[in-house]
Amino acid sequence: MTKVHNFNAGPCVLPKPAIESVIEAIRDFDNTGIGLLEISHRTPGWERIMKETEELWRELLHIPDNYDVLFLGGGASTQFFTVPANLLCKKAAYLQTGVWAKKAVKEAKFYGDVEVVASSEDKNYTYIPKGYSIPTDADYFHITTNNTIYGTEIKTDMDCPVNLVADMSSDIMSRPVDVSKYALIYGGAQKNVGPAGVTFVIVRRDVLGKVDRPLQTMVDYRTHIGKEAKDKSMFNTPPVFAIFVMHETLKWVKSLGGVEQMHKINTEKANTLYNEIDRNKMFVGTAVKEDRSIMNICWVMAPGYENKQDDFMAFAKGKGMIGIKGHRSVGGFRASLYNACPLESVQALVACMQEFEKQNA
Ligand SMILES: *Cc1c(COP(=O)(O)O)cnc(C)c1O
Repeated sequence: MTKVHNFNAGPCVLPKPAIESVIEAIRDFDNTGIGLLEISHRTPGWERIMKETEELWRELLHIPDNYDVLFLGGGASTQFFTVPANLLCKKAAYLQTGVWAKKAVKEAKFYGDVEVVASSEDKNYTYIPKGYSIPTDADYFHITTNNTIYGTEIKTDMDCPVNLVADMSSDIMSRPVDVSKYALIYGGAQKNVGPAGVTFVIVRRDVLGKVDRPLQTMVDYRTHIGKEAKDKSMFNTPPVFAIFVMHETLKWVKSLGGVEQMHKINTEKANTLYNEIDRNKMFVGTAVKEDRSIMNICWVMAPGYENKQDDFMAFAKGKGMIGIKGHRSVGGFRASLYNACPLESVQALVACMQEFEKQNA
């Protein structure tokens, strides 16, 4: 079999040691003689995993003490309505940088006024709007830091006059983040920190409990924070499998030197591919250069070579490139270079683009 290089956008490639470790744990968790999928989530061994997973989050992102870290179900899409349910008293502001952001806007409207302060929909979300103003009477301002489908990214932590809320589904743990600039950060694990099934929420405690509306028990973040540390994210059965893989994935991130080191590696990987896209006559990037994501890299055939798209896809597939088809709303190609995607895979993709150019340009 040809060696495969997995560039899927999510679920995506995970670190090999995390996979090996979960295979073992499914057979026998923590020397209990019972597998991970069969143990009670109230066993001490599991409570330790929950505690360590939270500690890894705190350590890797330097999360201040006045924030809680929660592991919930439902995916980032569930946070699209959970966030406004808990935080939107009268009005919220949103930056619309892609369809995920647009979906978040739609859900927020169930709870109050929503002002979309800027949108890049006019150019198919190929850039991050700038120069907008954030209304100071908004309860919060919501951004999507990385736009998975379009390959644009807000790469710095902005100063915001109101509570800043971020969907970081597809760039969490790819770079250092100044958590103190945010009131709440959430995302699905399956892009960069684990498999599908667990959603992370990092929330500054003082923003909760301000809304007048009654909240369903499961929707209220305070339920999941609980009264004591051991109750945290344990109100109902947590997704043990997904959390375990996340635990192992974060251990791996830590072993490599943390998010600071991941950022260096990710920048090198992204530059390697962007340099080739910019050099190669047959391809052209779709996102505005200054807003290019280091996680999801999108490109299309250059003018004059549009008819070669299927050929390149087939050629790349023959070389073991998996998951490089662009999202249908952008077309062309997308390579997702999440933490666990090795530099060698990016180099193999670059070599494949060069060879294709030699044969076809
Ligand atoms: C994938 C993705 C989502 C949706 O996540 P689910 O966990 O599938 O609900 C939301 N936002 C962004 C930025 C994403 O990339």
